[in-house]
Amino acid sequence: MSYQHLLAELDLGFTRLRNRVVMGSMHTGMEDRFWHYPQLAAYFRERAKGGVGLIITGGISPNRQGWLLPFGGTLNSVFDLRNHRLVTEAVHAEGGKIALQILHAGCYGYQPFVVSASAVKSPISKFKPRALTLAGIERTVRDYARCARLAQRAGYDGVEIMGSEGYLLNQFLCPRTNHRTDRYGGSLENRMRLACEIVERVRAECGERFIVVYRLSLIDLVEGGNTWEETVQVAQALEAAGVTIFNTGIGWHEARVPTIVTSVPRAAFASLTGRLKASVNVPVIASNRINTPEVADALIADGTADLVSMARPLLADSDFVLKAAADRADEINTCIACNQACLDHTFKNQRASCLVNPRAGRETELVYRPLASAQAVRSIAVVGAGPAGLSAATVAASRGHRVTLFEASDRLGGQFNLAMRVPGKEEFSETIRYFGSQLQRHRVDVRLGTRVDAALLAAGLYDDVIVATGIVPRRPAIAGIDGPNVLSYVDVLRGAPVGARVAVIGAGGIGFDVSEFLLHRAGEPLPVPRDTWLDEWGVDLAVRERGGLKPPAPALPVRQIWLLQRKAGRLGAGLGKTSGWVHRAALARNGVQMLGGIEYREISARGLRIARDGADQWLDVDTIVVCAGQESLRELLPSAVDGSHGSGAPRFHVIGGAKLATELDAKRAIREGAELAARL
Ligand code: FAD
Ligand code: NAP
Ligand code: SF4
Repeated sequence: MSYQHLLAELDLGFTRLRNRVVMGSMHTGMEDRFWHYPQLAAYFRERAKGGVGLIITGGISPNRQGWLLPFGGTLNSVFDLRNHRLVTEAVHAEGGKIALQILHAGCYGYQPFVVSASAVKSPISKFKPRALTLAGIERTVRDYARCARLAQRAGYDGVEIMGSEGYLLNQFLCPRTNHRTDRYGGSLENRMRLACEIVERVRAECGERFIVVYRLSLIDLVEGGNTWEETVQVAQALEAAGVTIFNTGIGWHEARVPTIVTSVPRAAFASLTGRLKASVNVPVIASNRINTPEVADALIADGTADLVSMARPLLADSDFVLKAAADRADEINTCIACNQACLDHTFKNQRASCLVNPRAGRETELVYRPLASAQAVRSIAVVGAGPAGLSAATVAASRGHRVTLFEASDRLGGQFNLAMRVPGKEEFSETIRYFGSQLQRHRVDVRLGTRVDAALLAAGLYDDVIVATGIVPRRPAIAGIDGPNVLSYVDVLRGAPVGARVAVIGAGGIGFDVSEFLLHRAGEPLPVPRDTWLDEWGVDLAVRERGGLKPPAPALPVRQIWLLQRKAGRLGAGLGKTSGWVHRAALARNGVQMLGGIEYREISARGLRIARDGADQWLDVDTIVVCAGQESLRELLPSAVDGSHGSGAPRFHVIGGAKLATELDAKRAIREGAELAARL
């Protein structure tokens, strides 16, 4: 059997987990409102049906002070039990197990009742916390215990106590935020007292046959965090207090080191879990950037961890475990760690979903129903095998329609073939691999190297034509734009030679990506090896200093780059909330000049002349790279509107970039393809 370590049962003494896959906690937005619990139950049911060993819910606060957002989800009265039972019953019906995460946000709460160890404001909330009084601490311990007891009554198999990522218990543990002088501050023994009391009280309240996971911060990645020796002492004390399993937490949310985005090497922090495992006697869970069964299995096989936590990979594919177990790992829809539809949504107070799987979080709304026997099988032509066309073709074919997919180039994937050349985005290739497997599985007739024209579509072969032809790069009207020193981002990413001094016109997602691409030397190993990445970001996995930070390695930029936009203000403002800062930091570190409020005057052999603050200035560059957005390619669409058809002519539909190039991203392209195909 493949992945036998990952798929092996785990005996906890009083209960067994059917395998080593833990669905890590992920806030979906559905936990916060009681009327969303039926959808939340459907979401978890799919993951339990897909074979996950242990699911951990999104964070539920033990009391009002602990809310992350106003009116966040709680489980603090018997009136909440009915909603939570919907969830536990759904998971148990599929043979799964589920633990409720108890999360007290402390000073990370974005609401006026916030409390913390000390009155230290966090840089990521505008609300300054109140320091908990001794009576407040005792109430908090009681609230945790009550929440755990209610969780047990609601049918949860356990709880996870969130003690990492900079939330309340982490705030008590670290000198960074704990300035107390009473018995909860000062020495490590005092700083960990609250966490230990909570675990003891939860254990006492819920008995021995209840899973208590503690998510412990193994590296804080902020100044004033803990050292490795302290972390081990805390773990041993928590184990004595009654922890069943330790989960790995990496970095506070305010840390300036990325911990989960695409550019973080796979399993970059897992060695910390291995070190913890050597110091405790209960199972440990590895976490962060583990997204394939190979990597997960290897971590268990080599003794690094007993279980592996994957949150986003199970949003991306609820059948991850089933596919791994059936030797169909090539069919796993791999999470590409983009954060675009999950964490970025959460930060905008929207329901979490997934870029590569638009059904995530919408299981009851977006249903790919097989065709009923009375329904006619339609013959569908999909034109363009970018994300939009691939999504439409696979969903339509999976439902039973007869689908032909045309692609002008010699490969599937559209612009994802360019995206995957950007350092740190190599994993975008996984999405193309996934769709390729689905085309085969659902017997889509794929015609590569076939540019469709109106004549082909008029031949009466198709009931429906889905135009997914994408975009063409915009070529702005700047004097000299046709000069030999001007390249489009397409040329650059395909390997056209670029000089040592470069101006990039346009600072959207692609302008940033191209700048990053140009900062790497040709022939450099990609993806960036783990140790190089750790040095670049100043991470010391030995955690010798508090927080595990060290001075970042000096950057040695290979090019001098100016990244330009016409809008005034900060560049990259439109990038994702949880990933944009990483791109900005990487470019700043390499000395990229990011200039806004630019007017483009002319291009000549000398370079690019711009106007800024009313003054003209030459940028003496060798190459100008145009990343100025795109325009829809929709020449195949009849002049009438979307969906129109004359008698006998096919129905036309248009999706993705072909429909609208503005604010296009793969999230919209894939979602539009799936939604259309679900309706046909
Ligand atoms: P496309 O991907 O453009 O696909 C259209 C396809 O249609 C092409 O393969 C084309 O060859 C084919 N075609 C056109 N005309 C015909 C014809 N007549 N007959 C047959 N075939 C035809 N998006 C994100 O969400 N996140 C990112 O991080 C991200 N990074 C990116 C990085 C780069 C460098 C680039 C270039 C893009 C990135 N994008 C990203 C954007 C994303 O790739 C696009 O939004 C997405 O590809 C649009 O999908 P689409 O299917 O509409 O169009
Ligand atoms: P974009 O985000 O729309 O950015 C286009 C850039 O070109 C802007 O900086 C714009 O700024 C400039 N521009 C527009 N018209 C111009 C003109 N006529 N002359 C000169 N400059 C002009 O588009 P993109 O960067 O091409 O990206 C395409 C899509 O891919 C985006 O919507 C994005 O969501 C997606 N993508 C996402 C990521 C990601 O990390 N999430 C990465 C890459 C791509 P000014 O008008 O101010 O100059
Ligand atoms: Fe992964 Fe992106 Fe989906 Fe989030 S949106 S689960 S990061 S693929």
